[in-house]
Amino acid sequence: MSLECASCDVYACRVGRVDATPDDCPMRGPFPSLEELYDTDGARRLLYHSALVEAEGYGRWTRVREIAELAHRMEYHRLGVVSCPDMGMEADLAARALRRMGLDVVVAAPFEDCDPVGQALLLAEEHTHFNVLAGMCVGHDSLFIRHSRAPVTSLVVRDLRLAHNPAAALYTREGYSKTALYGRREPPVPGTFGGWSDELIADTARAVSDAAAGRETPPCRVEEIMDFARRSGVSHMGIVFCVGFRREARDLEAILQTNGFRVSSSCCKTGAVPKATIGIKDEEQVTPGKPEMICNPVAQSSLLEDEGVELMLLLGQCAGHDSATMASLSVPAVCVVAKDRVLAHNTVAALYRP
Ligand code: SF4
Repeated sequence: MSLECASCDVYACRVGRVDATPDDCPMRGPFPSLEELYDTDGARRLLYHSALVEAEGYGRWTRVREIAELAHRMEYHRLGVVSCPDMGMEADLAARALRRMGLDVVVAAPFEDCDPVGQALLLAEEHTHFNVLAGMCVGHDSLFIRHSRAPVTSLVVRDLRLAHNPAAALYTREGYSKTALYGRREPPVPGTFGGWSDELIADTARAVSDAAAGRETPPCRVEEIMDFARRSGVSHMGIVFCVGFRREARDLEAILQTNGFRVSSSCCKTGAVPKATIGIKDEEQVTPGKPEMICNPVAQSSLLEDEGVELMLLLGQCAGHDSATMASLSVPAVCVVAKDRVLAHNTVAALYRP
């Protein structure tokens, strides 16, 4: 059974129509139960509160506000904010915004060189409850996610070409970004990937960053991700996406496949579990009175890992759902887009305005 939710035409999981799923739907085979996937009180609370924040702030709260609301509900009072050195301004702005929303914030921005493992250790010593990515290089985010002791969520995704608005590459893929995304490159060679180590991630991230620094026009995030995958020998990528990003997931899948990568993908509604199952009342749904399923972030990562993906791409998950995915992964994750329903996913805009 292939795992290709990005190519699904029905999205029957979204409304709980298990009877109407396509033949290659993962729900047609043995599917992990909620008890198996969320086996701690913390994991279940995160699932519950992420869903409440999603519904209450739907289309009204920016990403940074959603993160603050989730932190308060989860009793994550002390937050860490991390970035690579060239994103120090965005990290400071993120910290300022979160402090305004009543949170205690520690910024772990390195002065000169990228140091994601050192930043994760520093925040562990600072006993942060929740760590916020505010702009890290491709691969350095993977290392930070691996080493963070606290749950991680994504606020700003660094994109040198698009002023940290990486979703714009997907929306302009047939226009201004076409050459950047579909330009001639060597295809990846399946079977060359030898497994991950921190050293490989760090060396590859450095090579990607050095290559970008030497270019007159900087690469966009999606280009850097493909460069990172190629240099590390990855040929099979997994996309973990929000159902609200189904069009973007299909576009990202097309870009990666055109560049020679094998792509598997998993939609957040996979499993088709009604929200009432985790105690969410009808009036607490995004749309009361309609069938509404939970986001199932650990099922997404679990299905894709079973599929053998070598690198996981996080596309538009809600605040908290991304944290659950990141915490459950054994392969590295790279952030592609952080969702912001108010700002068309340009999360950083909320930080720049006064
Ligand atoms: S899980 Fe949902 S999106 Fe994926 S194939 Fe099944 S119905 Fe389609």
